[in-house]
Amino acid sequence: MRPLPAPAPGIAPARVLTIAGSDSGGGAGIQADLRTFALAGVHGCVAVTAVTVQNSVGVSGFHEVPAETVAAQMHSVVGDIGVGAAKTGMLASAAIITSVADACTELGIGDRIPLVVDPVAASMHGDPLMTEDAMDALRQRLIPLATVVTPNLDEVRLLTGIDVVDEATQRDAAKALHAMGARWALVKGGHLRSSAQSPDLLHDGTDFLEYRTERIPTGHDHGAGDTLAAAMVSALAHGYSVPEAVAFAKDWVTRCVAAAYPLGAGHGPVSAFWRLSTATDS
Ligand code: PLP
Repeated sequence: MRPLPAPAPGIAPARVLTIAGSDSGGGAGIQADLRTFALAGVHGCVAVTAVTVQNSVGVSGFHEVPAETVAAQMHSVVGDIGVGAAKTGMLASAAIITSVADACTELGIGDRIPLVVDPVAASMHGDPLMTEDAMDALRQRLIPLATVVTPNLDEVRLLTGIDVVDEATQRDAAKALHAMGARWALVKGGHLRSSAQSPDLLHDGTDFLEYRTERIPTGHDHGAGDTLAAAMVSALAHGYSVPEAVAFAKDWVTRCVAAAYPLGAGHGPVSAFWRLSTATDS
């Protein structure tokens, strides 16, 4: 992995924006994003979309932030602080997705500012993180703006109707997501239980690039998807190409999964704290 440049004291580091939900348990959502941003050495700005009530066992509810307040947060930070890349996570409703897509268009996000769309639909326990009308809005409004869309296999099924079971169907899914308007589609194979590896497939309408790591057996992988996308935007903000940013993010999240820790009675989070024990350039 090509490491990201370390920030210099007194000088503003690269800035990124996450448009995502809060996880009260601190494992996923904006909490995971900010942990990765900090440990990757980028300054994280936040547009909060929803406040979830959750712990290691599951999500028992969420409260949406008004759509115009989500867009206002985006305008406020991009207009003043400026960001080199942005990502979306939990967006909760069609109204918020529409408002986020409009703000992205107004601010050049998805155009001169790379946008990673992580199409979060449900928690790993199956608890919904989105209202039912939101999938269409995601398909029609946000995916066409995406520099990269990063669905897991459950999200692929919801977005495209394709059940990924092997390499051929993973390619079909990547093509379908590219045809929806994303410049790059990363179909994550972490949930492909038939494979001993975790094969992710990146596609830009022409080439297919594979990123493979050995599957790490763990019961604690809460926040893995958010962490992958957060690492990706950190690299994009430093001017990495999409294939380079995916390679950086895949390596980053693999290390986070290897360092995951138990928490509460359920699933613990992946841990970006591995970076603290191996940092040599601080
Ligand atoms: N809660 C929030 C706020 C999230 O953004 C996400 C994922 O993006 C989750 C929960 C779900 O994380 P996981 O799939 O690891 O349970």
